[in-house]
Parts: sequence; structure tokens; C-alpha cells
Amino acid sequence: MQNFQGVGVSPGRIIGTIRQMPKPVSEPPAGEQLPAGVSAEDATAALKAAAKAVHDQLKNRAQTVSGDGKAVLEATALMATDTMLLKTAGKLIARGTSNQRAIWEAGASVSEMLHNLGGYMAERATDVLDVRARIVAELRGVPAPGIPSAETPFILIAEDLAPADTATLDPEKVLALLTAGGGPQSHTAIIARSLGLPAVVAAAGVDALADGTEVYVDGAAGTITAEPGDEQRHAAEQWAATASLLADFDGTGTTADGHQVPLLANVGGGKDAAAAARLNAQGVGLFRTEFCFLERDNEPSVDEQAAAYKEVFDAFPGKKVVLRTLDAGADKPLPFLTDATEPNPALGVRGYRTDLTTPGVLERQLQAIARAAAESDADVWVMAPMISTAEEAARFATMCAEAGLRTPGVMVEVPSAALTAEAILREVSFASLGTNDLTQYAMAADRQLGPLAGLNTPWQPAVLRLVGLTVEGSIAEGHGKSVGVCGEAAADPALAVVLTGLGVTTLSMTARSIAAVAAVLKTVSLAEAQELAKLALSAPSATDARAWVRAKLPVLEELGL
Ligand code: PEP
Ligand code: MG
Repeated sequence: MQNFQGVGVSPGRIIGTIRQMPKPVSEPPAGEQLPAGVSAEDATAALKAAAKAVHDQLKNRAQTVSGDGKAVLEATALMATDTMLLKTAGKLIARGTSNQRAIWEAGASVSEMLHNLGGYMAERATDVLDVRARIVAELRGVPAPGIPSAETPFILIAEDLAPADTATLDPEKVLALLTAGGGPQSHTAIIARSLGLPAVVAAAGVDALADGTEVYVDGAAGTITAEPGDEQRHAAEQWAATASLLADFDGTGTTADGHQVPLLANVGGGKDAAAAARLNAQGVGLFRTEFCFLERDNEPSVDEQAAAYKEVFDAFPGKKVVLRTLDAGADKPLPFLTDATEPNPALGVRGYRTDLTTPGVLERQLQAIARAAAESDADVWVMAPMISTAEEAARFATMCAEAGLRTPGVMVEVPSAALTAEAILREVSFASLGTNDLTQYAMAADRQLGPLAGLNTPWQPAVLRLVGLTVEGSIAEGHGKSVGVCGEAAADPALAVVLTGLGVTTLSMTARSIAAVAAVLKTVSLAEAQELAKLALSAPSATDARAWVRAKLPVLEELGL
């Protein structure tokens, strides 16, 4: 048995065999020539065979998945044997370039051409780059990049997953997600929770495990055991039995003594929203609108945006839907809003700030939201990401009013916003704490970096204090304005209790986590939650805060959370 310790980010105890996500394919050296003795004809024939093999693999995989994943795979399969791509490469080979280098360069020029055409064609530009990497991998005889395909379910080990990887991640095939790097607020963690998969990040050494090794994963404790024994098998069996108890939420978030804490869903589009409604979420606390347009090179039209937003609103008639305006930048670049060459994107022109450099996009988005809201029955609230000052809040509120949107709010993700919450809340109707970014900025620790995972946890007493200050700001302001949490902190059942004790009014999380949070919340009274909040605030470290609170909530161990 070999043990690895990481940071548990999504609960679940499971045993399975691992598959490593292949490393990205490296670029063939510039100027690489055909090897001596290999004719251009033979090199071209080998390239065509590799392209055909990639086409067939993708086509076969497309048969095994449905929805978005199928469409993505089918479009990519067609690109593998695209005539223009292969002809361009063929011309380079005829001039003596190696076939790997030729397909690499051909991919770059076809991608650029598609990009310049704009619209639908521009969206295919990244498919070409994916395909050229797959063809090069095929020519080299190494595994294709991206999520591996397999007949039987497996535990995936990846460096980090991009939001776009979710399209091809089949939750029927992937049992759990592990990363050697990656922080607790990284996208891998967010994706794992949204799919209800057990996950551990920052588990140094797991990237060296051989494919096929059997491991036990405890996604709450953050432990991984290679070649597990009877004890682990027993724990996995027990989890399988209790997991079903955590599957249902009755639609009312409340403490044991009836203090209501609406439990809302974080969604990235219409499909997520429909799934969240089926899981009885009480509304949407964070609609990440940029997730609808991650693949886009150009600004979506007002009509297109309104249609995407209406899908989410229609899943929750009569209920609250909090929509966040485009949060482009850093880990979520949108080419039409962000500058890829910024030296320090997390501190750069991102979120609300893009209105400074690309004016008009925010205004048009607000028009689209207002149009979709007018055509639906949802109670639509709108908030801006990355607000740092009361002036910004006031300006955003004015823009919302001009668009006819009545409930403007802000995300509190920057420490300055928490520290000036009273002034900010004077300008807007509500605030929502984005604890993922609030933690990375309070601790000055990139949320994506594994080595900083210990700093990058919302259990940090400093972060909890910023949450408390935001709540105090809302009370001081006197209108009892809503202060929710929509960062990943809300999905941790123990932390959800602490946040409730700190006075947070709603909790928003991936819909799959709601049942577990509800189950734990209803075992404590509001006064007990307040005591636990005090306990966490008094702890000298994040580790102690978590351990002290967990020790007072034995229900967590009983439920395997
Ligand atoms: C956050 O920062 O906590 C948040 C909810 O926004 P995102 O994770 O999309 O940056
Ligand atoms: Mg954020």
C-alpha cells in the first residue's frame, strides 16, 4: 500500500483503476526535415493514415456519448480528414518538411484562416489545433491528448481540466478525479463537484502512478491509497450505501430551529439549470454567463445572448435567478474581451473591468438580460464580478437601471470590496461572496496552483473575517440586504454551517452538493452555527478552523462527508 495526501475537494469513497491524462503533445522542431531515406510520398501516406485513424477514433467515441460531447467529437472527427488541412501539409512535405512538422504548420495556418473568417468558422479554429496534436501523437505512437477513452470506468488523473474538457468528460466512465497539482478552487475541483465525482487535488506523486493501478480515494479526507486493503474496500462499500441517502433535497434549506437559508445552484447554462431544478434547487445563486461563450472569438449578439439566458430563467419560473455579467479574464479568457498577453491576468483587466477597455459589451449584455427577463417569469437579479470600489458599484447600478433591470448587485471577490461593504451596499441591492477569488486575493495565492493549496482555502481565518465584515456592512447599511455566498466554500457542508453562523443569507453551489449541505445544516440550530462560526474565527490556522468545526459535527463522519 502506498498513501498520498492531497486536498479533498469533493466527497466520496471509491475504488477503481487509474488512467493518466496524456501530457500535451509537444511541437515538432521548426525546420524539421524528412528523415534520410523517407520519400515525400511515403511520409504523406503515413500522415493520411494517421489522419484517418484519428478521424475513426473520434467518430467511434462520438457514438458512445450524447449531447454536447457528441457534437464536439463529430465536428473534430471531420476536421481530422479536412482536405485543405491535408493538402497544405502535403505541399510542405513535398518541399522536404517532416510530416509531423508539416501537419503542425498546416494546422496553424488553417486555424488562423478560420479564425479570420469569424462566426461559426472561427469557433472551429481550436478544433484544428486539437486535431493536429492528435495526428502528431498518432504519428509518434503516443497516447492522444485529452480525456482518455476506455471501455470500463476509471479514475482520471489530470494536471488540471479546462472548462471545455467537461464536454468530453463522460461521468459514466470517470469514477473520480485526482490531480498532482491544481488548487482547491481550480476548475478541476469545480467540475468534479458539479458532476458529483469524488476528487482530490494537490496530491503530490499521483502523476507517477502507472495506468491500471488500483487506488482507493477518499474525496473528503483528501487521501489516496494505491493497492487498497480490506479496510478501504469496506469504507467504499459503506459510502456506496450512504451516498443514496444524500441524493435528495426536499427544496427548503433550513437549520434545525427553522432559520431559513435558501440553497441555490451555480449554473453555466440552460442544461445545468434544468438539472438543478430537477434536484430541487431553490433558485440560481450564480449563473456564470461566460460559460455560455467560452469557445467564442467574437461577441455573441444580443439575440443569441437573450436566448441563452432565457433558457436558464425558464428553468426557474417564479424563483430567484442571479445572473453574473461576463467574468472574462485570468482562468476564463474570452478572446473578444481579454488580452492574452497581459503579464498578470488575475490582477488585470478582468470581470467588470473589461468595460474600461471594451466599452459596449456590458451594455449590450444588460440589454440581452433585460429582454430575456421580460419574456420569462424568473425573479432576475444581476451582479457584476470583480467589483473593487463603491464608485464601480454605483456605476453598475446606474447601467442596470438604464437597461430596466431592477435588482443590481455585486460580487465580493476582492478584499477591498469586503472592507468597504457598507459603502458598496449603499449603492446596490445585494452582494454575493465569491470565496474562490476572495481567497486567492486575500492570501495572494493563485487559485490554480497546487503548491499553494494550503493557503488557498476559504477556511483561512482571514477569509472568514472578510465574510463577516461583508455581512456587518450589510447590517450597518440598515436595509437587511442579502449577502450570499456563491464560491465553492458554500458546497463544503461544514463551512456552510460556519457561513450561516456568520450571517450569510443564502448559499449557492453546484446543485449536486445541495443535498449534503442541507442534510448537515438541518442538524444544527442557528445559535449553534453562530458558536461554530466564532470557533472558526478564533482558530490560529485554516487547518485548525476546519478540524475544530468538524470535530463538533459528527454527522459529517457518519455521512462520509
Ligand atoms: C468565486 O470567485 O468565488 C466565484 C464564484 O467566481 P468564479 O469561480 O467563477 O471565479
Ligand atoms: Mg470569481
